[in-house]
Amino acid sequence: MANAARSPQASLPSVDRVLNLPGVASLIAAHGRTPVTNSVRAVLAELRANLAAAESGPLPDLSDDAIAARVARTLEARAQPSLRPVFNLTGTVLHTNLGRAMLPIEATQAIAQVAKGASNLEFDIETGRRGDRDSHLEALFCELTGAAAATVVNNNAAAVLLVLNSLALRKEVPVSRGELIEIGGAFRMPDIMSRAGSKLVEVGTTNRTHPRDYENAVGPRTALIMKVHTSNYVVEGFTADVAEKQLAEIAHGHELPFVVDLGAGSLIDLETYGLPHEPTVAETLANGADLVTFSGDKLLGGPQAGIIAGRADLIARIKRNPMKRALRCDKMTIAALEVVLRLYGDPDRLAQRLPVIGLLSRPQEEIEQAARRIAPLLEARFAGVASVEVAPCQSQIGSGSLPVERLESAAVTIAPRTGKRGTGRALKRIAAAFRGLPIPVIGRIHDDRFILDLRCLTDEEDFCSQLSELSLDGDGPQ
Ligand SMILES: *Cc1c(COP(=O)(O)O)cnc(C)c1O
Repeated sequence: MANAARSPQASLPSVDRVLNLPGVASLIAAHGRTPVTNSVRAVLAELRANLAAAESGPLPDLSDDAIAARVARTLEARAQPSLRPVFNLTGTVLHTNLGRAMLPIEATQAIAQVAKGASNLEFDIETGRRGDRDSHLEALFCELTGAAAATVVNNNAAAVLLVLNSLALRKEVPVSRGELIEIGGAFRMPDIMSRAGSKLVEVGTTNRTHPRDYENAVGPRTALIMKVHTSNYVVEGFTADVAEKQLAEIAHGHELPFVVDLGAGSLIDLETYGLPHEPTVAETLANGADLVTFSGDKLLGGPQAGIIAGRADLIARIKRNPMKRALRCDKMTIAALEVVLRLYGDPDRLAQRLPVIGLLSRPQEEIEQAARRIAPLLEARFAGVASVEVAPCQSQIGSGSLPVERLESAAVTIAPRTGKRGTGRALKRIAAAFRGLPIPVIGRIHDDRFILDLRCLTDEEDFCSQLSELSLDGDGPQ
């Protein structure tokens, strides 16, 4: 090919000319002039770079149709929201990176209602006076937990921060060394303590803490005694910790509040639904806790929120702290939380109505049947490249709840038919192909297999209908 043909400036059309191509002009009506112009500029810049790079190789297609098609693709990719739905087939039901609890449909409707118009968020309709946003939730929490009062903030980390800052500013808080937890990257109990302005007093040892350790730690500067639920690990073997009841007695003997950070904070006995026991908020309050903090989007099954429930005088002090304003949650959270709490009023139907309980208690046979329906579809996609099987697997609850308990589940597993050496790469390619689907599918790699745990697959139809688009580039299946 002649050198002149390779001059990018000479061969590329102008922005205006591309905007007037029939295939592009029609996009303007649908998307607006600015987004289309931006996409045209991006496509021309990309083509210019391709031309410059293609010193001797094939040149990009510069026909009107090809350019228009590129603009349409670029526009579509740019219109894709950043935050979007995925299929969580990781086997971790409450997956923090994948948004934790799925909300019941009624809660999403309540969110839409308050989001699109005005509401009585902080307005007392009866008196016409200013109201309190906690009023929509407080009575429900009190009824479900036996607490005298409750307040709600942005998440449980905020709840812990606010309790400490309100009750233990420049004062000491004894915590067992066995409970100095880190949850996810940034939530470390010692860091939260110091940011709250409280002085952590470490008590006992990593594996054993005794009542006398707390007794020895309490002094004139002690503000409260705190117990932290060790959500994401267990200390096993030669261990001892002080039970809530006994710790409450010690705290009350010194006229100090006893605070428990419960983490997941179940509102009901999970054993009713065939699940392992997790301490409930009501039990912890009955054991003598003056305040309990817990998350809204873990076992409770609601939106992201942090709840502080317990003694009315302490909740009143917490609500007077100006930091409450900085940590409060918004109307959409309150709307969703109210709906979820009302579902707890009818425990017999909770498993049908609250997704978290429904998913956690989903029978293994039912999950396995789904796997048997889906496996043949995947077998067809991976014919000759990987072997597809239905296999039992174990789900976990996640978000630090019941870290060692596993739920019997079923999976479709995909094992690449490569030599041992290529397996890692092939698995990564399979995982990437599933992530590349219109609704990305997130699984996990374990034991040289790509595993899709189907416990949380609630929309099988949508899942199956997009499988035809599954593609692995290079030597994989089409
Ligand atoms: C999860 C957890 C937290 C943090 O709660 P978020 O709602 O994620 O902020 C704090 N403490 C414990 C014990 C937890 O399990």
